[in-house]
Amino acid sequence: MDDFKVTPWDVEGVVDYAKLIVEFGTSPLTDELIEKTAELTKSELPIFFRRKFFFSHRDYDKVLADYETGKGFFLYTGRGPSGPMHIGHIIPFYATKWLQESFDVNLYIQITDDEKFLFKEKLTFDDTKRWAYDNILDIIAVGFDPDKTFIFQDSEFTKIYEMAIPIAKKINYSMARAVFGFTDQSKIGMIFYPAIQAAPTFFEKKRCLIPAAIDQDPYWRLQRDFAESLGYYKTAAIHSKFVPGLTSLSGKMSASKPETAVYLTDDPEEAGKKIWKYALTGGRATAKEQREKGGEPEKCVVFKWFEIFFEPDDKKLMERYHACKSGELLCGQCKRELIERVQKFLKEHQKKRKEAEKKVEKFKYTGEL
Ligand code: SF4
Repeated sequence: MDDFKVTPWDVEGVVDYAKLIVEFGTSPLTDELIEKTAELTKSELPIFFRRKFFFSHRDYDKVLADYETGKGFFLYTGRGPSGPMHIGHIIPFYATKWLQESFDVNLYIQITDDEKFLFKEKLTFDDTKRWAYDNILDIIAVGFDPDKTFIFQDSEFTKIYEMAIPIAKKINYSMARAVFGFTDQSKIGMIFYPAIQAAPTFFEKKRCLIPAAIDQDPYWRLQRDFAESLGYYKTAAIHSKFVPGLTSLSGKMSASKPETAVYLTDDPEEAGKKIWKYALTGGRATAKEQREKGGEPEKCVVFKWFEIFFEPDDKKLMERYHACKSGELLCGQCKRELIERVQKFLKEHQKKRKEAEKKVEKFKYTGEL
C-alpha cells in the first residue's frame, strides 16, 4: 500500500516519484533525453532539467525528433484562476519560458476562469474573471516573448467552443468520470469541461508539448485516447515534481493552507516572517547537537526550496549540503539566506508585475497568429 496519493485534486504524503512513473504509465526523463535537449537547443540546461525537477514524460522523445527534423512543436500550459498565485504555481512557468526561448516555439496559455467557476462552489464568475486578470499579470511578469506567447481566458476566447465540439463527441461520460471523478451531483458544465481543456492541444497541426506537474497527467491521458481519430497528434508532456509548502515535504504548496505558501503578491517583509516562522528545517533540537551531528538537508524544506529554485549554482548548492551535514551551517543562518533570496525574487517579480499591466493586450490570443 502506497503511503502517498496523487490525483488531479489532491497530493498527499511524501511522493515516491519512481513508483508514480509506474503507476501512471509514463516514462522516466532519462539522462539521454536531457543531454539531447542540451544538444538540440545548444543551451546550458536550467536547474529544472539538471536537477530532475522534471522527471517523467510522455512522447518527449518524439517532440525532440520532430524538432530535429524541422516539423517543430508548440507548447501549451494553463492556470486555473481561483486565487492569488504562489511560488509553487510560478516555478513551472519559468521552466516553460526556458523551453520556449531555447526551442523558439509558440506557447499557448489557457486561463480557465470557466472551469474554476464551475468546480469551486464558493467562487462567482466575476471572482474567477478577476483572478484571471490578476494571474495573467504574474504570468506575463515571468518574461515571455509577446510575439510567440498567446494567453487566452476561456470566457473571452469563445472560438474555443467551436473547437471543443468535435472533441466533446469523442469523450463519453465514463471516460470523463474516470479522470475527473464526476458524481451524480456534478454540474453539467463540469462534464463538458474536459473538451474545452483538450482543445488547445489542437491549436496547431504540430505536436503539442505540455510542461506540467505530474498530477495533471490524467487529463491528458484522455486527450491521447482520441486525438489521432480527429487527425491530430497525441499530446506530449513533461512532468515536474511538486514544490513543497513551507511546513512539510509531503504534498504540495497549497493555496488552501496559507501558512504553507509564499504568494507572489506577499509583502516581502511579511513573506520573510512567514518563512522564518513556518519553514520546516532538518535541524537538530539544539545548536550544540547540530554542530556535533550535522543537519539533515534531506528532510528540510529550506534546502528543497534552494534546490528547486533559489540556488541556481550547483557547486554552491553542494557546498550548502555539506556545510549542513557537517554541522558547520546552522538553520537560522540558512533560513536567513533563503529569506533574502525569496525577498529579492518577490521585489523583482512585483516590479515586473506592475509593468505587465501595460502589456496584457499584447499577449491576448484572438485565434489569429
Ligand atoms: Fe536545512 Fe539549512 Fe538547517 Fe541544513 S542548515 S537543516 S539545509 S535549514
